[in-house]
Amino acid sequence: MIKASDYSFAGQKVLVRVDFNVPLNEDLEVTDTTRIEAAIPTIEKILADGGAVILISHLGRPKEGPEERYSLNNVLFALGDLLNRRVDFANDCIGREAAVKVANLKMGQVLLLENLRFHPGEKAGDESFARRLFNLGADVYVNDAFGTAHREHASVSTVVELFEDDKRVAGLLMEREVASATHVYKNAEKPFTAIIGGAKVSDKILLIENLLDIADNILIGGGMAYTFFKAMGGEIGNSICEDDRLELARELMIQAAEDGVNLMLPADSVAADAFAEDAKTQVTGSEEIPDKWMALDIGPEAFKSYSEVIANSKTILWNGPLGVSEMEPFARGTMEVGKAVAEATASGAFSLVGGGDSVAAINKLGLRDKISYVSTGGGALLEFFEGKVLPGIEALE
Ligand code: AMP
Repeated sequence: MIKASDYSFAGQKVLVRVDFNVPLNEDLEVTDTTRIEAAIPTIEKILADGGAVILISHLGRPKEGPEERYSLNNVLFALGDLLNRRVDFANDCIGREAAVKVANLKMGQVLLLENLRFHPGEKAGDESFARRLFNLGADVYVNDAFGTAHREHASVSTVVELFEDDKRVAGLLMEREVASATHVYKNAEKPFTAIIGGAKVSDKILLIENLLDIADNILIGGGMAYTFFKAMGGEIGNSICEDDRLELARELMIQAAEDGVNLMLPADSVAADAFAEDAKTQVTGSEEIPDKWMALDIGPEAFKSYSEVIANSKTILWNGPLGVSEMEPFARGTMEVGKAVAEATASGAFSLVGGGDSVAAINKLGLRDKISYVSTGGGALLEFFEGKVLPGIEALE
């Protein structure tokens, strides 16, 4: 994989796939610029080398063609602000206007093209759409969008093949993402602890199965824990449960025991009488959730024992919340685990955190700087640790 850090972009017009899929408020202003900030080093590197930048991205999930609320025009101001320079915009990512703007682009200038997903060819990985992107006339392709590397989309995968091998480059963000994930996946110093939360077991089966080969401890939290408890014959009240995955949960537990992996479930839980912020709550054993109550967070005994395991780890991977962390009364488990991960990192562990809710918890705690690497990838990171080859990375190799 050719790395942007080793590459000189002098005199090159560079087509850069970024992930500007940022949240917007009702006035269509960017409310969180993290993803834009993440792309700045690559843009600045190209400009500092004496190149020109053509940015392409998706934003949201437009259904049929252009819609104002999904226009990348909405991020233009935030981007210009962060780069501290003028950024030009083309109202379509392909076609005459974009081609003319690319042709007239001078070294040192930045052009942002409209949302790729206004064309169905993007998600379809369509060849003729990819060719139209290629025909805009860029000299080099850079992928800096790790968050979409698991998609076989035109701008991530199909278009890359049209560039010569030595014109396909991994951006600085992509480099760091791949290096951090590969470090944990291939060279994890032991003990290696994976903390896996989230709503459903079905979303994380492949991940857990794959981690059984490399992790020493797997700490389970979130809604998925209760499928495991039910599989063991526990009472889980109205807690979320996938009845069609009980057998699978049993198999995962047996496999963990056979592999000598310490698969931990939360000893206690915070149960609520409704899925609501103002619900009544009580702490109960996770296998004895009262009738009609639902477990919405891991309890104090659980986060204490998880924190101890985390404190004794040398490598930590964390994906997914331990409870309904978007509701304050059920955020404690996720927060405590976040603190434990930061403390272990301060004591020398390597920590990798990815996925919306886990990253949100780290940010809320102000602990971003205390984590070895906070990934911009949710789904992409998951698939990486499922052992899949990500199309966006494969295309660069
Ligand atoms: P995921 O997208 O799989 O990482 O799951 C995140 C979602 O899981 C969040 O929206 C949480 O509200 C939800 N979640 C976490 N713990 C629970 C729980 N105990 N019961 C129901 N939903 C949960």
